[in-house]
Amino acid sequence: MINSAILRLGKVKAILFVTINAVMFSLLVNLGVETLSGKQIDPRAIVMSILTPASIVPFMTWKIFSLIEKLIATQDELHRASITDPLTQVYNRRHFFELLHVEVERLRRYHRWFAILVLDIDHFKQINDRYGHAAGDQVLVSIAKTCRECCRTNDIFARLGGDEFVFLLPETSLEDAQSFAMRICEQVSNLDCSEIGPEASPTMSIGIATFQNPAGSLDDYLKQADNAMYRAKLAGRNQVISTILP
Ligand code: GH3
Ligand code: MG
Repeated sequence: MINSAILRLGKVKAILFVTINAVMFSLLVNLGVETLSGKQIDPRAIVMSILTPASIVPFMTWKIFSLIEKLIATQDELHRASITDPLTQVYNRRHFFELLHVEVERLRRYHRWFAILVLDIDHFKQINDRYGHAAGDQVLVSIAKTCRECCRTNDIFARLGGDEFVFLLPETSLEDAQSFAMRICEQVSNLDCSEIGPEASPTMSIGIATFQNPAGSLDDYLKQADNAMYRAKLAGRNQVISTILP
């Protein structure tokens, strides 16, 4: 509440607002006390009842507002950290499932199609083994960036863990999901990783599962896409395999 007041008014105006109120309050209390005690109003007391809050309140309010701002910034940063994968800066697995839950409920209600894509880097261990873990990390970051750049506004993209990523594509038909996945495969295979090493040219296998009115748990949807991804691995990697489910 205080934060929205600060945002609405601006910090300086909010401090001015609190100070004016404090001065008015102090003045009223002072006048009230003087009137009730039947004494003649002392101009020095009036001046003091204005000067005291006018000199202390702005400083105190500024300090309190600064602390509130810091607290809110820290809260935002903590929230961001809790939903983000620290290496690739895309959503983490936990947050993906939270978003998946909300989105799937919506899509089910309106009988909309949606697609889940599971993506796994091919022979990623070899990149780590040849060029080191830091180079592997660099590849993960580049791939995550490429995938994120392909996202439309409502698509959800996350790192599931290790070298595995996932997309939820709402309102997407099988054909559209397939061409999206092919584009990702192509863009990843065209990534320029020559500075990492001559043989560091990653590719990805992608499994797609599309649904309209699915029953079952969120884990089941992911499993279907995961199974399709394993079939893509078995079929030779660097390709897309899809399943349609009721
Ligand atoms: P496949 O084509 O079958 O997927 O072969 P693969 O070598 O990619 O095998 P797999 O997907 O099982 O291996 C994933 C590897 O990713 C294992 C692990 O060493 C590595 N890895 C997991 N997390 C990280 C990470 O954060 N950074 C780096 N550099 N490597 C990671
Ligand atoms: Mg892999």
